[in-house]
Amino acid sequence: MFGVVGIPVTALANRAVTLGVRFVAFHNEQSAGYAASAYGYLTGRPGILLTVSGPGCVHGLAGVSNAAANAWPMIVIAGSCDQGYFGRGDFQELDQVEAVKPFSKLSVRVRDIKEVPRCVFEVIGKAGSGRPGGCYLDLPTDVLHQTVSEAEAEELLVEAGKGVEKEVNGIVGQSEIEKAVSLLRHAERPLIVFGKGAAIARAENGLKKLVETTGIPFLPTPMGKGLLPDTHELAATAARSLAIGKCDVALVVGARLNWLLHFGEPPKWSKDVKFILVDISKEEIELRKPCLGLVGDAAKVVEMINKEIKDDPFCLGKTHPWVEAIQKKANENVSKMEAQLAKDVVPFNFLTPMRIIRDAILGVGSPAPIVVSEGANTMDVGRSVLVQTEPRTRLDAGTWGTMGVGLGYCIAAAVASPDRLVVAVEGDSGFGFSAMEVEVSSSAKRMLGNRIAILFLARYEVGLFPFKLSLVGCRVIPEFFHTRYVTMHLIPDSSVYHLSVTIVPYDLDSLQQNGTLIRYQLPVVVIVFNNGGVYGGDRRSPEEITGPFKDDPAPTSYVLGAAYHLLIEAFGGKGYLVGTPDELKSALTESFAARKPVVINVTIDPYAGAKSGRLQHKN
Ligand code: ADP
Repeated sequence: MFGVVGIPVTALANRAVTLGVRFVAFHNEQSAGYAASAYGYLTGRPGILLTVSGPGCVHGLAGVSNAAANAWPMIVIAGSCDQGYFGRGDFQELDQVEAVKPFSKLSVRVRDIKEVPRCVFEVIGKAGSGRPGGCYLDLPTDVLHQTVSEAEAEELLVEAGKGVEKEVNGIVGQSEIEKAVSLLRHAERPLIVFGKGAAIARAENGLKKLVETTGIPFLPTPMGKGLLPDTHELAATAARSLAIGKCDVALVVGARLNWLLHFGEPPKWSKDVKFILVDISKEEIELRKPCLGLVGDAAKVVEMINKEIKDDPFCLGKTHPWVEAIQKKANENVSKMEAQLAKDVVPFNFLTPMRIIRDAILGVGSPAPIVVSEGANTMDVGRSVLVQTEPRTRLDAGTWGTMGVGLGYCIAAAVASPDRLVVAVEGDSGFGFSAMEVEVSSSAKRMLGNRIAILFLARYEVGLFPFKLSLVGCRVIPEFFHTRYVTMHLIPDSSVYHLSVTIVPYDLDSLQQNGTLIRYQLPVVVIVFNNGGVYGGDRRSPEEITGPFKDDPAPTSYVLGAAYHLLIEAFGGKGYLVGTPDELKSALTESFAARKPVVINVTIDPYAGAKSGRLQHKN
């Protein structure tokens, strides 16, 4: 559960923690929402965003809309105003159910505590079935203050669990599978394309088998990278234009024919290409009108295709003209790129530091780090240069081109995959959206291990004044769930009262260093490509620099040479400022080995890279 607490949900978060839910406390619901969406993608189980009412919920819309655009499962739980005062200007009043509706698969208000189990089952069932997306659960203040007995709660839970409805994932018929295989078998220039729908379906093993038995070249979308290693001999990534421009049959698995795939239309694609689309969403297939649509879970459909091929196998082979053409083009393009990358350009362009980062990431081995990438040039260049070798190890701006996702994604990745290092490679503008969240990953020490709770059992003897306490027992309980220095409870039990005193000896040194009590020691290395603005330096023509505010900095400019690395030091993390290959290599070696929160501030030439990255035609 990711979120920001406050009225009326603070107790809800505390209660969740005592019940074994990890709660990651953010500074802003926007980032927490991005984290919840990415957690859903990486684990296949919806991440939860918890927000306060009104403005908190509105900030959280960023996360749930991003989940909708990317088709990732998540659930937003927000406190809302008191139902009895709604419409009369209650504290943080908003019709949150209506506000979230356009961005969610289901938006429900719990009107009474007894509805909680049913509503929870509904949102969980809906978020993760069919095409994944966000769902919303609205908890009014008055409901949060209601109580129900444990016994009744148990009964309600059992009842609610019985009636859960899930969207039926399509079932593909055998004849459709036969048709798909026949199209692939008779194609002259077949191509297999896969995207983040195949990643969420965990279709990597089936896809590997399909590619390797048929010898068909493959092309991943940006977040599909890694389902098969970028280094695979049938990878067409470095020959993308040729692959999509000349293929005659394209099997597209879990990827939409949207702007990222040029709508499947000329001039990028041939006008005669036959698409076989595999998607969990019937609507998606109806929208694209492919030659053949297979509605179903990507892993299952690919498995059916493999089974069908097994009975009558075919393989293009290394000398097939199509395979040779793709490999030749890919090798040429890789050689050209490597020649560019080999140069040490200082002040840094985008390529030199990206090469150094690529090599450092590859040096980590398995499990491979999760790469988080955003920015214009930084993301574009990173997509071509950074190498993905394992599934679901790349998170970027995604279908919506959402900037500002970086820190939330990093935190989600570190929580979802604790065995992996997380490396963010992002522009300074992307970093700036949520830079404060470095505090979440900072903190020098986890405190839980240091806590000691001492439970005194004392006897209260009725009739004596004020009362007599006699110590009857004393236990030391490490990791007791209390966040205060000392807490006391009187638990009535006939004439014996148990007086529980929890003493939490916090480490004062780290308290002073961190300003937070219990934070999360996350192995996140954030590399900021700092070129002083959105797209970098002021690139306006003289005619654009006119008017009464012409002496103001350009709308694309941020402070040149901003000391972003110092931000993390404010919270006890480690920062590096680097401007040469040796400085960058040394910062990466140290920080990858330490697995501690780090910001590496890389000074980039403000005039390197393109205005608007690779989307100049749209700006
Ligand atoms: P990319 O950005 O990688 O091209 P998209 O987000 O455009 O990918 O497309 C992902 C597609 O995958 C969506 O249309 C979604 O409906 C689909 N999808 C999601 N889960 C599954 C699944 N389990 N099996 C098949 N398709 C899925």
